Amino acid sequence: MAGKVKREKWSENFSEWYNELIETAGIQDKRYPVKGMNIWLPYGLKIMRNIERFIHSEMERTGHEEVLFPALIPETEFQKEAEHIAGFEGEVFWVTHAGHDPLDIRLILRPTSETAMYSMFSLWIRSHADLPFKVYQIVNTYRYETKHTRPLIRVREISRFFEAHTAHDSYEDAERQIREDLEIFDRLAKFLAIPYIISKRPDWDKFPGAYYSLGAEIMMPDGRTLQIGTMHNYRQNFAKAYDIKYETEEGEHEYVHQTTFGMSERLLAAVMAIHGDDNGLVLPPTIAPIQVVVVPIPKKDAEADVFAYAREIAEELRNAGIRVHVDERDIRPGRKYYDWELKGVPVRIEVGPRDVEGRKAVIARRDTLTKEVVERAEIVEAVRKTFDGIMDNLYNRAKEFLESHIKRVDTIEEAKAVFEDRRGIVEIPWCGSEECGLKMEEELDAKMLGTPYPEEKARIEGKKCPVCGREAKFIARFARTY
Ligand SMILES: [Zn+2]
Repeated sequence: MAGKVKREKWSENFSEWYNELIETAGIQDKRYPVKGMNIWLPYGLKIMRNIERFIHSEMERTGHEEVLFPALIPETEFQKEAEHIAGFEGEVFWVTHAGHDPLDIRLILRPTSETAMYSMFSLWIRSHADLPFKVYQIVNTYRYETKHTRPLIRVREISRFFEAHTAHDSYEDAERQIREDLEIFDRLAKFLAIPYIISKRPDWDKFPGAYYSLGAEIMMPDGRTLQIGTMHNYRQNFAKAYDIKYETEEGEHEYVHQTTFGMSERLLAAVMAIHGDDNGLVLPPTIAPIQVVVVPIPKKDAEADVFAYAREIAEELRNAGIRVHVDERDIRPGRKYYDWELKGVPVRIEVGPRDVEGRKAVIARRDTLTKEVVERAEIVEAVRKTFDGIMDNLYNRAKEFLESHIKRVDTIEEAKAVFEDRRGIVEIPWCGSEECGLKMEEELDAKMLGTPYPEEKARIEGKKCPVCGREAKFIARFARTY
């Protein structure tokens, strides 16, 4: 693609690039006086709402109903599932007082909503006719993060936490739900033009209380991975703890099988990180609050009315359902280009006196920073075609980046070399034992993401586990993670 796109700072000093852009592009303000809790600014919130609109429509399409649960959970409910509480106890915020009085039953601010929802599920679910039962909510959740916090990525208030919770009459139907979640996730990822991988987490790193957990990861510019989605099959684990039973057609009482599917504002972090460059954000047209900015370029002594022409073009685009803005500020065009590039507006249309006279316009693409002259009469079609071109280019560029950062090796030494060099994801044979998995995590100073999913992709033959020398059963993925 065009040589004008610079990604030096993006690739070499990603952390600084990201922290600056969060504020300069108007996504969030980090100056709120509680660590790890940030303020959504109007532009950032508009982008996030566009992502959520797609999620709501997918939930509707797949028969999930939206609910809203309270943020406070009684300690007594929180403690019903042993593994779950062990996993979260160290990172919950407690509410211990009301006014001057200590509470009889302490409350926690939800870190996730299993323990809030499931006592209600046991009241709502009565018979096989109620199943499958599918609900979701998008709410704020709280986790006392002790690691270094980072906006949208590691925060103490996750303010756009998506969680779908389902109940089923069999393990098979819960498995069908996981496949549906994966399909929804895939559609969302395409909508955001972000390629990803799915791994089945090792047992020691699954969600507290889950039978198994799947995680979706993306590749960040610095070669570390970011988890942006999870799916968990709980089997009957929570159903037993919260007594969620249904009556079968034969009149027997059985525990339900449950699943969850989770995502958050990390989706926006992924979009920023994957598509951005040294000029700022690069937004996919699907979620850009402004898809097209029209910039009139008046010239001294020119008679043509560039402002009227710009407004006329904008009106036509608006009527075609495109989100458009005309920048009529009295500042130099170069300054306007800078501002809109920083905010990642996918398409800029420039109109000067000669364009008015020749019934033309200049279309500039944010992703490639290239320009083309189009006929005035063909502008809507040209913009639509450019949107498609941007979506394809963003996805393909990111896919190439992801794939070039996955390396299959046979030995610990080769794996270490990958992490020293360009980082990324290492795939290495593994016998399947926890001991060897943990040993590799330690040797590589990396996390095991898990095994490729679906499971057919994880099986290998004829290789040895580099730790114990026994025959390897799986491919295991390791990465340095966010
Ligand atoms: Zn082994």
